[in-house]
Amino acid sequence: MKKKSPFCNFCGAAIEEVERLLTGPENVAICNKCIQACYKLISSGKSEKSAAAEPAQTEQTEAYLPSPSELKKHLDKFVIGQDNAKIALCVAVYNHYKRLYSGNSKKFSNDVEIDKSNVLFVGPTGSGKTLLAQTLARFLQVPFTIADATVLTEVGYVGEDVDSILVRLYQAAEYNVQATERGIVFVDEIDKIARKSANPSITRDVSGEGVQQGLLKILEGTIAAIPPKGGRKHPEQLLVHINTRNILFICGGAFETLDKVISKRVNSGGGMGFGADVVSKNESKIGEILSKCEPEDLISFGLLPELVGRLPVIVSLNELDEAALLSILTEPQNSLVKQYTKLFAMDGIELSFTKDAFDAIVKKTVEQKTGARGLRSVLEKILMPYMFEVSKYREQAVLKIDSKIVHAAIEKEKSKR
Ligand code: ADP
Repeated sequence: MKKKSPFCNFCGAAIEEVERLLTGPENVAICNKCIQACYKLISSGKSEKSAAAEPAQTEQTEAYLPSPSELKKHLDKFVIGQDNAKIALCVAVYNHYKRLYSGNSKKFSNDVEIDKSNVLFVGPTGSGKTLLAQTLARFLQVPFTIADATVLTEVGYVGEDVDSILVRLYQAAEYNVQATERGIVFVDEIDKIARKSANPSITRDVSGEGVQQGLLKILEGTIAAIPPKGGRKHPEQLLVHINTRNILFICGGAFETLDKVISKRVNSGGGMGFGADVVSKNESKIGEILSKCEPEDLISFGLLPELVGRLPVIVSLNELDEAALLSILTEPQNSLVKQYTKLFAMDGIELSFTKDAFDAIVKKTVEQKTGARGLRSVLEKILMPYMFEVSKYREQAVLKIDSKIVHAAIEKEKSKR
């Protein structure tokens, strides 16, 4: 009879499938993952009863997958507008987790393997790219991390290498390998690692093309060995192996000159007659032009064809106009106005704004060209003196911000420069 190879008596994993297997008397064994899980349970101080209830809970979250329309309904509570982007994202995320959960099911044949649909967000700064990814991850209760592509460099060079993204996701997953392997990573500023010219570079491009190569590997799916606490790898260090096959990557960038690339391609498209101006920047808003983005435009912009191929879902976001900014200010569940109102309420002050004040705040934000991100800094400048002298206003119990106050704060800021 064939001798069975040692396996973990807790989870059943064979020795080849785990990093470490500790064997006790009578060949009883436990793997590193189960040791970690036990350690977490014991150090969290949970009783045996609640610990026993825990696996059942995990199974439940895995079994219940909200539909794309349910996901969108949740996004609508926090993110204003960007309907097309929301729909594309919700469908991609739904398919991703469906593929992942059905992978364990015996109901479906294993002959057809469904590919992963990583997502690329193309849209102006402050239009909600990060917010969309973050809000979805929170709703799905999966580990989430944001990586800034501009700080990444090729392995061996000064800066962070691509694996550092996985270290952060592992930390966000509270050092749980299984949870890490189905998390979501948002790679911001991916446009900043475009190669400088369309031709392969002669000199090494360690922060552009080099990083794209590194990202490509983890986007495709690889087993990465990461140092659990981050930092550089060294020979005697214990490494954790993370399979990136089921990690969903959402990349985002402003791609500032991409509209020109798209316009050029669309305008030079054959059959439309000499001088036909299908997309003109005067007529179309940036969002409209970006919605026509094709993989070839991204390649012309400087992304590697292989990387573009791994980002099959391209989602464009619109520039936020005044009406959208006004809604962002007041409507979302945790809108800025609701946040500041709560802050003042904690001091017993009722904060309110006039309609003119809102209009002035929005106008100032549009001038700054930083999208909705600018709203907070404008509000902060207006409210700073009141927050500083909070004790004075406590006696008044009400604080009404009108357009005069807003304009005075803006003027004061200008005079400082
Ligand atoms: P980026 O597109 O540059 O990733 P973010 O998602 O980081 O922009 O947005 C910055 C901030 O602006 C968010 O934290 C959020 O408060 C606000 N914001 C941006 N877009 C929206 C939106 N569509 N709806 C609601 N808030 C938004």
